[in-house]
This record gives sequence, C-alpha cells and structure tokens, in this order.
Amino acid sequence: MSKSSRPQVTIVGAGIIGLYTAYVLTELQKIPGSEICVVAKYLPGDQSASGYTSPWAGGNWSCISPNDEATLFYDKFTYENLARLQKALLTFFTGRDDEWLGLSRRPSRELWDQVPNERKIDSLRSYLEDYRVLSEKELNEIRPTAPAFGITLKTWNFNCPVFLFNFFQFLRDKHQVRFVKQELTHLAQAKCYVNPLCSGSDRHIIFNCTGLGARDLGGVRDHKVYPTRGQVVVVRAPHINENCLRWGRDYATYIIPRPGKGKEVVLGGFLQVDNGNAQDTSLSETEDILKRTLTLLPKIGRADELEIIRVAAGLRPSRYGGPRIEREVKGDDDNLVFIHNYGASGYGYQGGLGMALKAVQLAFRQERSSRL
Ligand SMILES: Cc1cc2nc3c(=O)[nH]c(=O)nc-3n(C[C@H](O)[C@H](O)[C@H](O)COP(=O)(O)OP(=O)(O)OC[C@H]3O[C@@H](n4cnc5c(N)ncnc54)[C@H](O)[C@@H]3O)c2cc1C
Repeated sequence: MSKSSRPQVTIVGAGIIGLYTAYVLTELQKIPGSEICVVAKYLPGDQSASGYTSPWAGGNWSCISPNDEATLFYDKFTYENLARLQKALLTFFTGRDDEWLGLSRRPSRELWDQVPNERKIDSLRSYLEDYRVLSEKELNEIRPTAPAFGITLKTWNFNCPVFLFNFFQFLRDKHQVRFVKQELTHLAQAKCYVNPLCSGSDRHIIFNCTGLGARDLGGVRDHKVYPTRGQVVVVRAPHINENCLRWGRDYATYIIPRPGKGKEVVLGGFLQVDNGNAQDTSLSETEDILKRTLTLLPKIGRADELEIIRVAAGLRPSRYGGPRIEREVKGDDDNLVFIHNYGASGYGYQGGLGMALKAVQLAFRQERSSRL
C-alpha cells in the first residue's frame, strides 16, 4: 500500500485491547506507529476503579474463557504469540528482564468441579506447553473436595499495571504512536485525533477499544455491555511462584503470582454479573477469598500471618453474546470505518492479542493467519 493511500488510524481506548491493537497494526500490518493515534480518557499510569479495567487485572493466561471457536482461537493465538511480544519489548528495554517487564512464565494448575467441554480440552491439549492431565490420586488429594478434572501447564503471568505501562512506553517511544488523553462523547470525534507525523489521507479507520465505555459512548451505546465485578486480595508471598485456579459452578478461586520484585500474589475471586460497584470492598468477601485460596494452596500460609498489601475491586467489561469485533462502514465509499473491539470480560490479557488480530484483519479485509 503506498503511503498516500494508507488510511489515518485512530484507536479509542488505551487499555490492553487498545495497546494490543496498536501492536498488531505496527507489527503485522506494518503501519508505521507515526501514522497511529491512540485517544483515551485514561492512559497507562492513570487509575480509575470504574472507568479503566486493565490496571486491575490479576493477571494470567487461564481457562476462564468460554468454549466457542472464536474465543478458543483468541486464547491460542495470544498464548503462542506473547513470546514474540515479550522479545520485542525486552529488545527495546535493553538490560531489563521479564520480571521487570511484568510478563513472565510460571507453572499453573487448573481444576474443575465439572469436567469441562471436550472441544476446549482438545484445543488446550493441542498447544499448551507442559500440558498434563492430573491423575485420580492427585485429584483426590485436593481439598476441600476432589475436583472432577485438572491439568497442569506452563502459563503466562502479567503484572498488569507494570506491563501496561511498559507496553505503552514501547509503542510511544519505539514506534512513535501518539497518545492523547481525552474523553469522547461520540465515536466519530476520534477523526479529530491523528498523529501529526502522518501526511494525511481522506480515509480514516477508527478502532473502538473502549471496554465498559462502549455502553455510553455516542455512536455505540451498546446495552449488551455490563460489568462483572471481581474483588481480590493482594498479599506478599515470595515463596509462591505457581498459579492455581479452581472453577466451580458458582465460584472461581484463583492464586496468581505477579512478576516483579514486589513478590505480590493476587488471591481471588468473584465474578459478580452486572455489579458495577468498584468503589467498595467487603470484609466478608475478603474472608471468603482467603478461606478458599488457603484451602486450595495451604503453603501460602495462615490467614493471620499473611502480609495483606491491599484489597481491591475491578470491573470486567463483559457483553451478552461475547466480545463485539465488528466492522461498521460510516462513509459513502469506505472513507470512515469503525472497527469495534470491546467486551473482553475476564480474558483481555490472555485473548486480546487474537482479538486485535481479528480486528485488524477486518479493517484491512484479510484472511485469518495463525501467526504474526
Ligand atoms: C479482578 C480482575 C481480574 C482479572 N484478571 C484477568 C486475568 O487474569 N487475565 C486476563 O486476561 N484478564 C483479566 N481480567 C480482565 C481484563 O482486565 C480485561 O479483559 C481487560 O482489562 C479489558 O481491557 P479493555 O482495553 O477492553 O478495557 P479498559 O482497560 O477498561 O480500557 C478501556 C479504555 O477505553 C477508554 N475509554 C472508554 N470510554 C471512553 C470515552 N468515552 N472516551 C475516551 N476514552 C474512553 C478508557 O479510558 C480506557 O483507556 C481481570 C479483570 C478484573 C477486574
């Protein structure tokens, strides 16, 4: 594509979905970052309990996501391509390591009270590193009751606020992506935010990566979007280097160590549908989380001896029907195109790279490929 025919690109939203989208554009689509502008009410480094989910995530790659074909692909693509992203960032931040970056590998154990969907298990088995199904003896040793099924794997762990900030610096300083802090009231206003290094074109592609913001943003107002609240307890536990997650019919218990010298471990959690209260945390939920996680992994220590760093609540940007990754043409002859990419719920870090790939392919009308 010649430079003059290239569209101007604006990404609305600077959560993990907006940043993954900028990364796929620069790496796969080979669009210079100098032709991309990200505009968002909150940028990496900012905090908002109810308006900016990404800094609040655990986070890791896990089996939390649904079993449909599209989601299985997003998870697989992200799992397989995070190594390339990690390498690109570490090459840029010379002398730093994966722990500093906030993206590193750890062992994980995932347990289910009901045997999970066969299609999901087939998919996981086909690509997860160190994948192993737990024996009945191993399952029977797990408290308070033996799960129906369990696996071990090598997973990806994020220190979400740290990684988000490093990823932002990489896109801004290496690729010259422009970041502007601004709230929009209508998606079409994004046309006004371009990278001044870009020579200009009358075609414009706007990626809508606004998470929960998609509920209220003019030109979108998607009432299928809702918050799924999660409370977590963050403790200091340098001896815990493994993930452990248990999926029940009406609960989710997880232990997620965060990369970095703080040696933090995130204990969770809750998946409270249509609960938008991120301001308050509750003692009874904290006690419930501690009870469940310390039973699941007793070596964390005794509740009365734990160093609790903080208790926090975040809102996952969920959507009835799943994430919306869709192309919407606004101009007469493709001059203005919206590409929606929101609704990542509890799996934006672990599936978002695949979601971004699909969004970019929709923008430039390409077939799916399995690698960047
Ligand atoms: C407790 C908890 C634990 C989690 N654990 C994990 C995990 O282990 N693994 C995992 O993969 N995921 C996890 N998640 C989910 C993950 O955090 C989300 O899927 C992800 O952060 C969603 O990113 P996003 O970019 O879509 O939204 P956000 O991070 O909310 O970003 C939205 C962006 O859009 C901008 N925006 C919105 N409206 C407007 C507007 N009108 N004008 C301008 N800008 C606007 C915002 O300012 C922001 O920059 C967890 C979430 C929670 C709450």
